[in-house]
Amino acid sequence: MTERIVIENCAVATVDAAGTEYDSGHVVVAGNVIESVGAGPAPAELADVARRIDGTGHLATPGLVNTHHHFYQWLTRGLAQDSNLFDWLVELYPVWARIDEDIVHAAASGSLAMMARGGVTTAMDHHYVFPRGTGDLLGAEIRAASRVGVRFTAARGSMDRGRSDGGLPPDFAVETTEAALLATEAAIDAHHDASFGSMLHIAAAPCSPFSVSTELLREAAVLARGKGVRLHTHGSETVEEEKFCHELFGMGPTDYFESTGWLGDDVWMAHCVHMNDSDIAAFARTGTGVAHCPSSNARLAAGIARVPDMLAAGVPVGLGVDGTASNESGELHTELRNALLINRLGGGEKAMSARQALRLGTYGGAQVLGRADEIGSLEPGKLADLVLWKLDGLGHASIADPVAALVLGAAAPVTLSLVNGRPVVEQGRLTGVDEDEIARLTRTEARRLAALAGLA
Ligand SMILES: [Zn+2]
Repeated sequence: MTERIVIENCAVATVDAAGTEYDSGHVVVAGNVIESVGAGPAPAELADVARRIDGTGHLATPGLVNTHHHFYQWLTRGLAQDSNLFDWLVELYPVWARIDEDIVHAAASGSLAMMARGGVTTAMDHHYVFPRGTGDLLGAEIRAASRVGVRFTAARGSMDRGRSDGGLPPDFAVETTEAALLATEAAIDAHHDASFGSMLHIAAAPCSPFSVSTELLREAAVLARGKGVRLHTHGSETVEEEKFCHELFGMGPTDYFESTGWLGDDVWMAHCVHMNDSDIAAFARTGTGVAHCPSSNARLAAGIARVPDMLAAGVPVGLGVDGTASNESGELHTELRNALLINRLGGGEKAMSARQALRLGTYGGAQVLGRADEIGSLEPGKLADLVLWKLDGLGHASIADPVAALVLGAAAPVTLSLVNGRPVVEQGRLTGVDEDEIARLTRTEARRLAALAGLA
């Protein structure tokens, strides 16, 4: 017997290909999949209804999908407050080099709890700092995601180009090329689940052109394709990175990535701020995806990504929180608004609509994580990852258009968030973890990290 959850009397933004919306509609969940979505109340004759939810005053949307993050940074927020990317990295690398398994677990718990509370149903993390002998850092993140209850893509990152090889990170913060590849392969073999409805994907994710050797990029692409997992990295984030690529490789970042096998429909890159027309055309031609991180790009004054041009060219684009050392809020639902605002500053008042922003945060994210057939829209047969946003309170009640209320208004409270048909948030509270306990733990571990790094 498959139990059903019925949600009705709410506005529904399905984010399907046609952008179908209902002023008052219903969603029926059967087990871990969406059974039906439509106008008006749910069919009265449904059997095995375990729960019937009156969604009056709410908007139902697909769950939000985060496509770029660095969980460990949760414990180094508020540092290097007035720096650009390279200065910020140089200041923070020595602190990050002191992380261990307990620190990563606490930071991942904080990052995940914050996002889940705000409607994220699929999280992603790009972890690339692996000091020797500090335990199972990727495993610590995976445990945290499982406790919070969200779907998770863990990108096993790496750095092997230290200062002595012309890179930006200090030598003590990098691995050898061989160790990085072996650990990435081991993570895929141990954890990657490619089945429909999987709660855990692994991706191969060398960090960036200025922290990774050409050999590691090439070999990671071969490894990932042999194993059938996706590839992720940072690309074209700043003018300094572009200069670095021209000086070291004699070409810009996108040409460099193409030369190492790093453009393709199994690749997504964070930022992509400094892209010329031919870079965007190359991403469109190859199906390479982009994780747009508007707050982080603003915090580090990296620039404004050309998202409207990317979308017009057919590039898949999702949204990313990015690490919380460069986006202290750590929330994705507020990035809907920030994406819209920043892209309008870059491209004018028609550059991005509220509905396009919602699409980036849901379906766009599903596309870049390679899961558009499973998540990202409310359609029968897809996984039951959805959010019921409360829009009848002080922050939103006077806005008639629910999508505008969600995107343009204050951060909306989450009445219910389902992942795989299971409640992860009820009435604004996480169901699987104690928020206050995580807050205390992150404070303790942040102080321990500061002491280890000589900051306190
Ligand atoms: Zn990043």
